[in-house]
Amino acid sequence: MTGNASIRACPNCTGTQAVKLPVYSRDEWNVVSCDDCEMIYLQNPPKYEALEQDFAWEKTFVQEDETRVKKRGLLKRLAYAGRMLSYRLRPSPNARYLRVLGPGKILDVGCGDVVRWTAPFVPFGIKIPKALAKGADKKMRALGGECRQGAGAPTIWEFPENHFDSIMMHSYLEHEVDVDQILRGAQRCLKPGGKAFIRVPNFNSLNRKWSKGDWPGLRYPDHVNYFTVNTLKSVAANAGLGFQLTNKHKIWLDDNIQALFIKPIQN
Ligand SMILES: [Zn+2]
Repeated sequence: MTGNASIRACPNCTGTQAVKLPVYSRDEWNVVSCDDCEMIYLQNPPKYEALEQDFAWEKTFVQEDETRVKKRGLLKRLAYAGRMLSYRLRPSPNARYLRVLGPGKILDVGCGDVVRWTAPFVPFGIKIPKALAKGADKKMRALGGECRQGAGAPTIWEFPENHFDSIMMHSYLEHEVDVDQILRGAQRCLKPGGKAFIRVPNFNSLNRKWSKGDWPGLRYPDHVNYFTVNTLKSVAANAGLGFQLTNKHKIWLDDNIQALFIKPIQN
């Protein structure tokens, strides 16, 4: 598909010794487990430019989703429809996240052009595709914020230190090749006591253990990190951030991990 791939060290411990997991690898994409810390990751991710052009997340998501829906039996499709309905009946994201994060300047990393934050949030964003960033920037400026165009890890460093009350990384960190750079950048631009909300696929879920190579959390090549609670906690600590698991009660059943990364009050 691309000659653009490069070999990558472990995003958690920077170790270079890893063993390939054939069940979770596909085509030329090698999913490996780090010998030192057992972090699961894609060892040869495409570069950002290739990701932007060839495998835009939204595009592969729609393709894989359609394939999965076709494969499903009637019962599974009904369960899926029920889940979609319950999502629609839940309180708005603004109200839910306001309870968790509190009001103020929020940085949405990898945000779409749909600006979901309204007062008392002041929305900021980072987005790779130029057209989406431009649309979001216009809407965010009208609300007192702004959207920068670029890849998340380098672009987060453009914002001032101690600037944001909160950061949203919803379905983002599993795509980020440079986990350490984005999280250190987040630590820097959060205010002391500020929180980043993180949602990533849960590699230790029961469904993954059951479904193995058919697990919906696997996406090639756009998911480049497959976290467990332990490795997610570890990357937070590497960046000087505290860790709080927010879906602890059913984590072994949940296909996703939801957590808060919290900047300590005193540095
Ligand atoms: Zn490692």
